Amino acid sequence: MLIFYGTRASKLKERQIQGNTTCPHCQSKNSFVATTYGRYFHLFWIPFMPLFKATVVECSHCKKTYKEDELPNDIKEALTRQDAGDPVKRPIWHGCGCLLFIVFPLVLGLLTTVIGLFAGGDDSEGDIPQDIREEYLEQDIAMVTSNPTFESDSISYFIKTCVASHIEGIDTDRIEYLSKTNNNKLLVILKVGDMKGVKKTSRKELVFAVEECIEYALDDSTITDFYIGVDGNWNMLMVKTPYEADLSGKFADKDLLLPFYDDIEGEGDVIGIEEVESDSVVIENIDNRE
Ligand SMILES: [Zn+2]
Repeated sequence: MLIFYGTRASKLKERQIQGNTTCPHCQSKNSFVATTYGRYFHLFWIPFMPLFKATVVECSHCKKTYKEDELPNDIKEALTRQDAGDPVKRPIWHGCGCLLFIVFPLVLGLLTTVIGLFAGGDDSEGDIPQDIREEYLEQDIAMVTSNPTFESDSISYFIKTCVASHIEGIDTDRIEYLSKTNNNKLLVILKVGDMKGVKKTSRKELVFAVEECIEYALDDSTITDFYIGVDGNWNMLMVKTPYEADLSGKFADKDLLLPFYDDIEGEGDVIGIEEVESDSVVIENIDNRE
């Protein structure tokens, strides 16, 4: 990276030297004008740090200039006396780059604190508390598997077998499943990934097939309310519950599934060995059927 830096000077003050002075060159009286320059270090032409000051004295008559150390004593004394009463001041911008280094962290710190306060305030007051059911649903969506076993998730295990034989046009091997029960409610989540190549009507068929399979499997069960969610790569594609259905096959509101988690105990790990026991009847039914 090319870095431009160096020093520059700007005029700080120009004043007529008061007092009884004589130019050594042209003998003019009280003809001196003193100009003080301030030099500063710049980085990309941004004044970064103030450096030294220099004063040049010029005779306004003969135009001869004198540096400070060349000045005759009388002129030097007159100038010193005058500047003591009215000192030459440097503008603040000579060191503004340096100032940035000091001010910027302070401002940043302040901003962070202020934002933190506001954000913190929002969290504790303004925001609606996170619906715990959403958390449960997210957890369950993440739990889907393409190989549900009879021992781990007997309902999914059955649905997978059943759906594969019920539906065409969809690669059912790739579908991942999860099922869960909560009192008289059953939740089935299918993760199908990409359904772009599948016609919308066929997408619906998948939900109907799942529903049929569940109804068949849980024929004599106390479970009556089915919540079915078909998840895509990025979002829920279809949802069907006892109350509502969104089978457009593109963007479905997964919150429709949340009532499943109402009155759930603990973290909702309701499916267990007890369920497996009763489901074994179902599996036998299928075996008989085939
Ligand atoms: Zn002169």
